[in-house]
Formats: sequence, structure tokens, C-alpha cells
Amino acid sequence: MNYLVSACLLGTNCRYNATGCLLPALKELEAQGHRLFPACPEVLGGLPIPRPPAELQPDGCVMTKEGQDVTTAYEEGAQKTLALAQVHSCQRAILKERSPSCGCGLIYDGTFSNRLIPGNGITAQLLLAHHIPVYGESQLEQLLSQKGRNHSISSL
Ligand code: SF4
Repeated sequence: MNYLVSACLLGTNCRYNATGCLLPALKELEAQGHRLFPACPEVLGGLPIPRPPAELQPDGCVMTKEGQDVTTAYEEGAQKTLALAQVHSCQRAILKERSPSCGCGLIYDGTFSNRLIPGNGITAQLLLAHHIPVYGESQLEQLLSQKGRNHSISSL
């Protein structure tokens, strides 16, 4: 099976603070014969590394902590990520939790105070809308042990 994966989970230093968050267990998925295709929606949307932290707002816009509206870049990155997933026939996605792009199930509430609320990042939402199940990194062990099942975080 082909998986779209948040590039930072594969070790790319593409997060807002120019770090990655390598998820070593992804190697096990490759060892099972799956193919992983990295994508960073925020970089695909034209945002730099590093960049100001941003959070999704209740009205659907994405704002930086300094008050800059970066919604267009997030939406463009989501569309490019979806296109990548489709061109590589990815049937599932494993995305970084809590990100305003990649988060699925829980995201920050938009106040930059570390509070989490139910919700999906812009890219995760777009993938789900196109019937690509999305898993957060904390679900990888479950995914590795439940080969063949097709539950996404949003449907558990
Ligand atoms: Fe990682 Fe997604 Fe943020 Fe890029 S947009 S750094 S892939 S969480």
C-alpha cells in the first residue's frame, strides 16, 4: 500500500522551528513492503523554514501568532498535497498530530495557549474529504498491528 506521510515524521527539518520529528516506527511500515511518500503541506504552500507558528481559527482562517493571515498558503499546500497523494495512489495518510495543516482529530484552539480542541488541520480535512483515511503518529503502532483494517482517526 502507498502512504502519504508528513515529511517531518520522516526526519525532514521542515517544521515551523526548522526541526523534524522522526518517527522510527515508519521503517517498520516500509519493512512490511509499504511505500511512503513524504509531503510538507506548509512548504508546498510556499512558506519558509523557519516560519512563524500559526493556528487554525474558528472561522477557518489560519493566522500566525503575530496576526498575519496565511490561509491561502495553507490551502494551496493542502491542494498540492492532495495532488501528490492522488498521483502516487496513496490509500492512507500518516500525518503529524496537532498541526494546523496535518493535525487530525485534535488541533490547537487558535489562541496560542496550548489548548487542544477537536478538529482537523486543513490538509487532513482535505484528504478525508477525498476519502483518504488519515492516521496520527500515535496510531502507527495500532496500524502496524492491525494490518488490513481501514480505520482512520476520525472514525475510531
Ligand atoms: Fe510536518 Fe505537516 Fe507541519 Fe510540514 S506541515 S512540518 S509535514 S506537520
